[in-house]
Amino acid sequence: MGKVVGIDLGTTNSVVATLDEGQPWVIPDEDGSLLLPSYVGLSESGQLLVGQVASRQYGAAPERTVKSIKRHMGTDYQVTLADQTYRPQEISAIILRSLKQRAEAALGESVSQAVITVPAYFTDAQRQATKEAGEIAGFEVLQILNEPTAAALVFEVETDETENVLVYDLGGGTFDVSVVEITGSVTEVLASHGNNRLGGDDFDRQLQRYLIDRFHQSQGVEVPEDHGIRDRLLQSAERAKIALSDHAFTTVREPFLVSKEDTALHLEVDISREDFEHLIHPFLKETLEAIDRALSDAEMSPSDLNRVILVGGSTRIPLVQRLVEAHLTDVPVSSFEPELCVALGAALQAGVLTGEAVDNILVDVCPHSLGIAAVIDTALGPIPNMFSVIIPRNTVIPTSKSQVYFTTFDRQSIVEVEVFQGENPVAQENVPLGSFEIEGLPPKPAGDVEVEVHFDFDLNGILTVTATEKGMGQQKSLVVNDTKVGRLSSHELNQARQQVSSLFESLETIDIDADWRETEDEDRLNLEEE
Ligand code: ADP
Ligand code: MG
Repeated sequence: MGKVVGIDLGTTNSVVATLDEGQPWVIPDEDGSLLLPSYVGLSESGQLLVGQVASRQYGAAPERTVKSIKRHMGTDYQVTLADQTYRPQEISAIILRSLKQRAEAALGESVSQAVITVPAYFTDAQRQATKEAGEIAGFEVLQILNEPTAAALVFEVETDETENVLVYDLGGGTFDVSVVEITGSVTEVLASHGNNRLGGDDFDRQLQRYLIDRFHQSQGVEVPEDHGIRDRLLQSAERAKIALSDHAFTTVREPFLVSKEDTALHLEVDISREDFEHLIHPFLKETLEAIDRALSDAEMSPSDLNRVILVGGSTRIPLVQRLVEAHLTDVPVSSFEPELCVALGAALQAGVLTGEAVDNILVDVCPHSLGIAAVIDTALGPIPNMFSVIIPRNTVIPTSKSQVYFTTFDRQSIVEVEVFQGENPVAQENVPLGSFEIEGLPPKPAGDVEVEVHFDFDLNGILTVTATEKGMGQQKSLVVNDTKVGRLSSHELNQARQQVSSLFESLETIDIDADWRETEDEDRLNLEEE
């Protein structure tokens, strides 16, 4: 018997993971890629293509390439590739087979047993088809596991109490939200909702349309309905979207896009994260409605939830996390390798089923919110010195996030970036971590100078803050080596409290000046409030 694997057979990407001494890890291909795009195709000469190579030819040769076959699992849909027809199970089997080979090459032994995941809403027919795909690929399928359950396994906490977890999964072409109840090692999906036509692909198409419009505006020429050109723009739209998850701005450059009267026209468009957020906001609103429906089907209110887990590549978009957090106030939102965690959970389950001792992954989170002092617009007008959070508490680390700020005065030439850690809405009430200035800003009206502040928080708790003035590109950084400075753990805080109160008890036995005692009592109150 060889090693066991867990497989996330996704609509857009598939992933294979296994266990090493009880710890799950994702198996890369020989180039180091962790994801296998769920594309299958035939090359011009009839050679079988799977993954990246197949997805690359999709634009040029859609008739020889299949994508998103998962949508057809369990139906009698047939695809034609060259002159042959294939059933969905067979196409899926080709993907699974390719992952099996990847695993065998990396592990140097045969791999025969697998746990394969499916969406919670999959019918019996769809599950059966998935199992058949596994068998065609040469696997013994140990279990067909629900994706949200697999994701929840990765976050499992050591407790015997029942936990209610909401899994929000926004992938490339599908969106699912499930409410899962976990008691010890038993998990049950209580409700599941979603839209299997909503995901990152929609965001790419919105951005593609935006690029086409902007090109038309600036060049006065329509982008032709040419498959190759449109596909090129769709791919740069996806790259821009991914860049905007980490940066507040990006520039899309597509030289020689079209020609007009013998001159080549280039596309060059700046996109801000804010513009992108406007484009996708309507889609995300729909996902929030699905959360409410899933909760009401499970007969729960947000306060019954112990945590929210974000799954799927599209949850890397900062707005997604912000909206989910705002919608489910007070429920901690966690995310850990959102494209990989379903496969990692499947590998854990494969280990459990074959009697291997498994360890849950210890996810490390950032214990306090990190941000800067800024003027914040409120219903009562702008308020200075507010704490603008860039990395919220409980974000899984390592992480990097950024935010854009604007000047508040006309001809403002300096901005000061003051970094704080804590949860108080007033910046100065938090723990200061350092500050720096960016000078020599271009003399422009208030609000016209944009500064991107980028926070990078690594596994060792080191925070690097970089501020960049967008126009002239001036940049400055600050490295905070120990973000724990000046902060007591809750244990230390309790100890300190006890020490201080026992000191007061002993003082009270001595006859002391009343005035003095009063002021000390105030100090003590302050300490408790903190
Ligand atoms: P699926 O479960 O549908 O197979 P994934 O969970 O792998 O898909 O998600 C794929 C989607 O995630 C794609 O649309 C991809 O563009 C998007 N994606 C991946 N990384 C990022 C990122 N950093 N920011 C925004 N979207 C991302
Ligand atoms: Mg998925």
